[in-house]
Amino acid sequence: MKNRMVYLDNSATTPTDPRVVDKMLPYFYDQPGNAASRTHAFGWQAEEAVGKARQQVAELLGVDKTEVVFTSGATEAVNLAIKGIYDTYKRKGQHLITVKTEHKAVLDTCQWLEEKGAEVTYLEVDKQGRIDLGELEAAIREDTILVAIMWANNETGVLQEVSAIGEICTRKGVFFFCDGTQAVGKIPVDPVATGIHLMAFSAHKMYGPKGVGALYVRRKNPPVKITAQLLGGGHERGRRSGTLNVPGIVGFGVAAALAQAEMTEEMVRLSVWRDQLERKLLEGLEKVSLNGSHENRLPQISSLCFEYADAEDVMRTFNQELAVSSGSACTSASLDPSHVLKAMGLTSDEAHASLRLSFGRFNTEEDIDQVAEWIIRGVNSVRAANPLWV
Ligand SMILES: *Cc1c(COP(=O)(O)O)cnc(C)c1O
Repeated sequence: MKNRMVYLDNSATTPTDPRVVDKMLPYFYDQPGNAASRTHAFGWQAEEAVGKARQQVAELLGVDKTEVVFTSGATEAVNLAIKGIYDTYKRKGQHLITVKTEHKAVLDTCQWLEEKGAEVTYLEVDKQGRIDLGELEAAIREDTILVAIMWANNETGVLQEVSAIGEICTRKGVFFFCDGTQAVGKIPVDPVATGIHLMAFSAHKMYGPKGVGALYVRRKNPPVKITAQLLGGGHERGRRSGTLNVPGIVGFGVAAALAQAEMTEEMVRLSVWRDQLERKLLEGLEKVSLNGSHENRLPQISSLCFEYADAEDVMRTFNQELAVSSGSACTSASLDPSHVLKAMGLTSDEAHASLRLSFGRFNTEEDIDQVAEWIIRGVNSVRAANPLWV
């Protein structure tokens, strides 16, 4: 069999869809205009292209296009949402609520605000990776201004009960910010029906280009006001200054339209493959377990713990032929065990023995057998060298 590389790390980033790239290219060459230039056709064309993309992104979520603020990615959108709400509403209250399993973009921003005088409650999760809704409700106080909870976790795919969270926040009169980065474009996401006031998401997690994202900011019932964090020119209705990334935004729009058209089919296809791979691994190896809820998770992600097999060692056996993430994902510069898996009750050893496998649009059915073979071989060889494995 010829050796080929398999990319199974689509939750870290997705390859850009060639149909997206094709539509971006003219905005580097023939139509290089600045969307803020009002004095010539190049500017008007760029502005029109951005308007179309804004409409495509808004349609994917069923929101109004004036509610979409383009940013450099989800990290910036998270920062804009949390700091922007804090700056606008801190006279009303300084208490925020989030969860221990959030992305570092949320946790680091909350921690930074704590240094500025905010008080933050970090909710626990159960073994399934889900919060207790009663605990959330009990944590909301007179001075709570924001609840920041993600739609789907980037390491496990576990879904929070966002509709119930939205209902609680609406009833209690606090804003609900949702990091939707892993969910948007993969599963149906309707922020209005869900009771979400602000939501961050990113093009490069849904087959668009890197370096472009967006923040949804609700316009009415109630109107949400955020204080801009980048100043200079008043772009994006004063909410985010800076020359717009026209090719990136055009690509984001195309990616959103493709996701809308293909999501239903893609969800089924990827979840069938994911389940097949899980079955093969569970049948082919002892002492393998799934991290987090089996039912309440994204269709394309699998987080598995292979006891007595350190994930970094297992990955070394792949000889660069298979790309996956380990249980130290997202802090991979350091080798700290994943804060997400630790919060779910895994020991450091169990977190270090975990792999995240995430399927995407460009995987094929043949990948499944190949990946199962590589992982089974790798886990067996690492265990064989581990004196604790008997
Ligand atoms: C990838 C990711 C981010 C950061 O997105 P960027 O666009 O890379 O800044 C934030 N939150 C979650 C859940 C993510 O998966």
